[in-house]
Amino acid sequence: MSADLLRAPGVQPRKRLTILGSTGSVGRSTLDLVGRNAGLYEIEALTAYENVALLADQARTHRARLAVIGDPARYEALKAALAGSGVEAAAGPAALVEAASRPSDWVMAAIVGSAGLGPTLAAVTRGATVALANKECLVCAGDLVMKAVARHGATLLPVDSEHNAIFQVFDFAQPESVDRLILTASGGPFRRLSLGEMRDVTPAQAVAHPNWSMGAKISVDSATLMNKGLELIEASHLFPVPEERIEILVHPQSVVHSLVAYVDGSVLAQLGPADMRTPIAYTLAWPERMRTPCPRLDLAALTTLSFEAPDPVRFPALSLTRHALQSGGAAPTILNAANEAAVAGFLAGRIGFLDIARVVERALEQVPRHPVDTLDAVQAADQAARAAANRLIAELT
Ligand code: NAD
Ligand code: MG
Repeated sequence: MSADLLRAPGVQPRKRLTILGSTGSVGRSTLDLVGRNAGLYEIEALTAYENVALLADQARTHRARLAVIGDPARYEALKAALAGSGVEAAAGPAALVEAASRPSDWVMAAIVGSAGLGPTLAAVTRGATVALANKECLVCAGDLVMKAVARHGATLLPVDSEHNAIFQVFDFAQPESVDRLILTASGGPFRRLSLGEMRDVTPAQAVAHPNWSMGAKISVDSATLMNKGLELIEASHLFPVPEERIEILVHPQSVVHSLVAYVDGSVLAQLGPADMRTPIAYTLAWPERMRTPCPRLDLAALTTLSFEAPDPVRFPALSLTRHALQSGGAAPTILNAANEAAVAGFLAGRIGFLDIARVVERALEQVPRHPVDTLDAVQAADQAARAAANRLIAELT
């Protein structure tokens, strides 16, 4: 009998978690899973940008050690909301980095946008296991982040459903056996609209995704297909497959979350419900698996699984992102920041839906491309691109 089997059954040590962006869609789904498995986990830190009430409520419910609010002006409000709870309160960008730097076994990086880069890098730099939802940090600083992952022995587990699917079926022992990656896209709410119809869509229509419930920014990105372009860049950093062998296919049912095609003609896919708790659970339990309350796929009831090539004319974000990836250097950083500014401009009603890709394209033409091999250089390129995009938005308004 092996020593393992002879060992007396003991209490499993609880896994210590940090959740960056706990008040968002991914953050709340993560805490939902944690809450259903009380006893397996303890919470080191939770962070949010402005929702003090929800952050304090989460911190009390899950007995977090630390709660950080990104907006420094909300520090007093957070302190008051946590009074008597024993939860430490902190605020501001440096405190977000400090939260990610504190020892924990697992970090969920679920801040939206390049604002998540500093804290995510801090977690990577201490060699943590990082469940990565914050795709923008790989888009704006992919080389920097992946070098830090290698240098510090961190583990990156992709949360984005497509990358999580590929991660589950990719043969890392023989990467040369992979012929291509196929990223699936739902096509978003405007898949069937003409360019003329897309011109007048409202923010409310753009955030109403047909299959997934997500934060506002990623929902708009899904409507422009910029999300899939960002995911192309994300995939090129996560998997050893060159850009020209990463394809994008529209699959409106969102059942097949992505596929890996092998040189022998085999194609392996991961299927699942359109519920982010499935990929989040994969990263939370990794390398094991955990039970989730997600709906189960009823394969017999699936009458159609369809796939079609995306339309590059109505969705120019796809070629913008592919070109930015091919150019490399600061181009993806500029693209990402300009897109964040343009999406904010669209959500605020300042520009139209089709202006988003125009602003990104013009910013890519205007902003000088300096090397982005340090965090400071990435942040400088990000700021320059935001400034250019905001000028372009002001011209359009
Ligand atoms: P969300 O808008 O619902 O939540 C974002 C979180 O980030 C919130 O907790 C917010 O307080 C925090 N935040 C926002 N700005 C911040 C700042 N400047 N500083 C610090 N914190 C800040 O977004 P989401 O939908 O949960 O998405 C989070 C990330 O996960 C994004 O990068 C998104 O692309 C990615 N992702 C989301 C989904 C999904 O289903 N929602 C799927 C795949 C990938
Ligand atoms: Mg995705």
